Amino acid sequence: MSNQFKECISQFNKTCDIIKAFEDKNGSRGIINKELEILKNPKRTIQFSIPVLMDDGSLKVFDGYRVQYNDIRGPFKGGLRYHPKVNLDEVKALAFWMTIKCAVADIPFGGSKGGITVDAKKLSQPELERLTRGYVRAAAKFIGPDTDIPAPDVYTNPQIMAWFMDEYSRIKGKNEPAVVTGKPVEIGGSLGRGTATAQGGFYVFENLRKKLKIKKEKTAIAVQGFGNAGMNFAKLADEAGYKIAAVSDSKGGIYSPNGLNINDVVKHKENTGSVVDFSGAKNITNEQLLTLPVDVLVPAALEGIITEKNTGKIKAGVILELANGPTSMGAGEKLFKKGVTVVPDVLANSGGVIVSYFEWVQNIGNYYWELEKVERNLHKQINKATDLVWEYMNTYNTNMRTAAYIIAIEKLSKALKIRGV
Ligand code: GLU
Repeated sequence: MSNQFKECISQFNKTCDIIKAFEDKNGSRGIINKELEILKNPKRTIQFSIPVLMDDGSLKVFDGYRVQYNDIRGPFKGGLRYHPKVNLDEVKALAFWMTIKCAVADIPFGGSKGGITVDAKKLSQPELERLTRGYVRAAAKFIGPDTDIPAPDVYTNPQIMAWFMDEYSRIKGKNEPAVVTGKPVEIGGSLGRGTATAQGGFYVFENLRKKLKIKKEKTAIAVQGFGNAGMNFAKLADEAGYKIAAVSDSKGGIYSPNGLNINDVVKHKENTGSVVDFSGAKNITNEQLLTLPVDVLVPAALEGIITEKNTGKIKAGVILELANGPTSMGAGEKLFKKGVTVVPDVLANSGGVIVSYFEWVQNIGNYYWELEKVERNLHKQINKATDLVWEYMNTYNTNMRTAAYIIAIEKLSKALKIRGV
């Protein structure tokens, strides 16, 4: 059992100490109050068994989780992950990060996360559907458009969200599109949601590139993870004229110092199931990708991949966290001392949940936006968050992650105080 959630709380406590020291020196702004104690534990933790009839006639029971961390600023919000390593400690950490993320993004949601311990790649489509519907039946009492709204995450996709919405609507006896976001557009999904995490990350990067005075033409990028976030980010950056020197997926990576043609890599992956063995590129491991001589490293897969053990070897000057929690706390501190700019997950990948919010708004209003409006609003919302993180980083003379946490804690603290315990 790892200690991801414990690390979240250490980060939280450390940030509170920084705010307190700042208030002691500059006068209290009333951020540190006793109500903050509430944020050290999830409000509700739900664990269930999901029996699934397999195609071969056998019955398997899967472990499912939903952690509803905090809803002081609005309904719980957060993805649903299917992965063999899903466990309660991880889901708690992910739900905590959603709480921080929604506050940083300034959308009226709290934070939650769900998961099923399963290797989704080994299941047939009908098995996946039965598993998803089983999860919804187990979770139905605790979720809903005004209470807790799931969305895609690692190894879940719009089709799974469609089954989710359908099963929930059957239980309720009416259409309930707003119970889940990231749905296909045919049944109430938002235009632009599929690429929103990458698009948002790209907007954040472009904003910071100007602040950091990085030249586009010379920037080489390595992307770890070629799922929804990583692949779409690589595509956007390639189209914009950046050099994508390396990409990887769970089977391994490829490196070409002169840059990869991402559309060709996408086709290669569609044909072979992996980015590995792409002609003209050198095969590398996921670990090697992290230490390549590039300017920007984009972890876009799972948490805990940048640790105190490999930080010394990282050459990139900027790390854009499209994954949740890719950098351990100790590694983050070392990178800060080394002068590396780590753009934290709670800002860098918030485009996904921001457009989830737009999708939910459209579902509630039953009025649908053009793609141009989705992108314009995403750009506005995420740029505002980026500028604020930058401002707090300078005011508190700290790194971007701590600055983002200060913003979130300030908003949560005010909401807790106003509403009362
Ligand atoms: N799973 C995504 C995340 O970690 C999206 C969550 C959402 O849209 O609710 O931010």
